[in-house]
Amino acid sequence: MRNFLYSRAGTAQEAVSLISTLSNAKFLGGGTNLVDLMRENIEQPDALVDVTRLPLSGITETAEGGIAIGAEVRNSTVANHPLIRQRYPMLSQGILCGASGQIRNMATVGGNIMQRTRCYYFYDEAARCNKRNPGAGCDAIDGFNRIHAILGASEHCIATHPSDLCVALAALDATVRVDGPDGPRTIAFNDFHSLPGETPHIETALRANELITAVELPSLPFAKRSLYRKIRDRASYAFALVSVAAALEIENGTMRNARVALGGVAPKPWRAWEAERVLSGAPATPETFRRAADAELANARGYRDNRFKIELARRTISSVLSELAAPEVWQ
Ligand code: SF4
Repeated sequence: MRNFLYSRAGTAQEAVSLISTLSNAKFLGGGTNLVDLMRENIEQPDALVDVTRLPLSGITETAEGGIAIGAEVRNSTVANHPLIRQRYPMLSQGILCGASGQIRNMATVGGNIMQRTRCYYFYDEAARCNKRNPGAGCDAIDGFNRIHAILGASEHCIATHPSDLCVALAALDATVRVDGPDGPRTIAFNDFHSLPGETPHIETALRANELITAVELPSLPFAKRSLYRKIRDRASYAFALVSVAAALEIENGTMRNARVALGGVAPKPWRAWEAERVLSGAPATPETFRRAADAELANARGYRDNRFKIELARRTISSVLSELAAPEVWQ
């Protein structure tokens, strides 16, 4: 690990001002991803601005009936908060599927959103990686690509986004609040992460020196009927091969509203718009759920080692929707 300058900010404005005076600097939250990357020499900042002491660690109700979660709230605090558990169970379940208890106690919401892919080649300095070294090539495309993307990838990068929390935020239509040199602004969560296209090193819509200050969940009463399911190689402390976050509003057997997002299958938390189009206004039946899954995966593309994910995703979507629709579970 290289030497770096460490400083700590007391307010969001101070953090933004401080980082604007430094070159090659990064914000430091819980450090559960960034410090690992620094140890591996993948991230080599010259300066870190610690933002964990900022007054951004509250979970509060908004005037519109939603919930605002400060960027420095620890993941375990979000998962165990009574309002989150009652109103957005998929978010609580998703977080509790991720990492380990110790890591969830350290990791912050802002840091979770900013975490980087776990592509093996991204972590291997000897490998070619367009994300780490733009223009170098991608060793994953013809290499061992079991954990890689089947949706939204490009010929320049097929890495997946690793977060569980973010999959729930995508399904819930969250908003990200940021502060920066040009003042505060908001970004729709589904616009926050970028697809790789020709520029896989550009991962988010954040501008230079902008800091995430909060995530806002809209009022979504039917999200009480929501689930997160994660399929992985072992029962804990593993990233998703496929995950599904879903919520359904069902009235007299018809789906009035549906939210579906996928994890482990794309370079960003993947909102399943095609599946939602099939579900909305349709009868809540296994046949509809299969059609929704088929529609979402119609453009999926598998690589040498990850083709199994297409059928796995199809079955997991259908299964989660069936469980959500089962009256005995939700009456
Ligand atoms: Fe790098 Fe993306 Fe290729 Fe992985 S998939 S080696 S992150 S360019």
